[in-house]
Amino acid sequence: MEQKKMLPDNPALRAYRHLFGLIGYPLGHSFSQSYFNGKFAREGLHDHFYEVFPLEAISWFPELLKLYPNLRGLNVTIPYKEQVIPYLDHLEEGAAQIGAVNVIRCIDGRCIGYNSDVHGFEQDLEEFLDGHRQEIASALVLGIGGAAKAVVYVLKKWGLPYRTVSRTAGSSDLLFEDLDAGHIRQSQLIINTTPLGMAPARDTLPQIPYEHLTREHFLYDLVYNPSSTLFMEMGQQRGAQVRNGLGMLYKQAEKAWEFWNSPIG
Ligand code: NAP
Repeated sequence: MEQKKMLPDNPALRAYRHLFGLIGYPLGHSFSQSYFNGKFAREGLHDHFYEVFPLEAISWFPELLKLYPNLRGLNVTIPYKEQVIPYLDHLEEGAAQIGAVNVIRCIDGRCIGYNSDVHGFEQDLEEFLDGHRQEIASALVLGIGGAAKAVVYVLKKWGLPYRTVSRTAGSSDLLFEDLDAGHIRQSQLIINTTPLGMAPARDTLPQIPYEHLTREHFLYDLVYNPSSTLFMEMGQQRGAQVRNGLGMLYKQAEKAWEFWNSPIG
């Protein structure tokens, strides 16, 4: 008979007064773990610790909370940003509108969902465009997953026309195979929200007609590892401005820390 898989217990983690962590699956090296444990060490927060919790299924989430009642906050990554929502007691307004959660605050036995990707992306895109925002007539958003929802939320907020692109008919405005010279010419901002190009699949890239890119284009890749993706390199070869997702990553982490420490209204 197949044995039921259980969430591994690490009793040492209960010794920390303030435990934080990342849920997702599978989880490899975690930026958030290095970022927060580095911060805790620098700031002398010795009763704080950040751990990674690879959850094979999101149905393990309640068990995780039971196992570690000292959990104060969690980050959420692929594939749970949407799947975790039914397990939360409350969603902050931004997260509710976006329909994706990447930060959870655990307080007084309740779990509140937030979205800090929106903040990270908005601030970083603003820096990237640096005064060129008026030159962008419209944008193409490649991918329609959790991160794309945060991107679309910001573009809508800015009043910037956009079209989404996916490989699944009926779920986006365009299919990758539909993209032609006209779409590329009209869209000076192209944002990759797919994991294509992300390590270890460094030799992959979204299938768009790169030959129509010009110096007027801005290519933003949410992927940050490697720091230069094939998508970015194809843009650079044609004189486009390019940016990876590292700035967004730092900015969303800083915002998560703010959410975990904000007064409860
Ligand atoms: P997700 O919810 O799994 O969505 C991924 C999207 O990419 C889906 O639309 C998926 O389409 C599409 N996709 C996957 N493989 C594809 C392929 N071979 N061809 C075409 N489309 C493909 O993931 P996510 O949470 O949105 O994250 C996406 C990426 O953004 C990841 O690389 C993540 O690390 C990065 N990210 C970066 C930051 C940052 O701070 N820089 C923040 C969030 C996310 P299907 O539905 O057809 O599979």
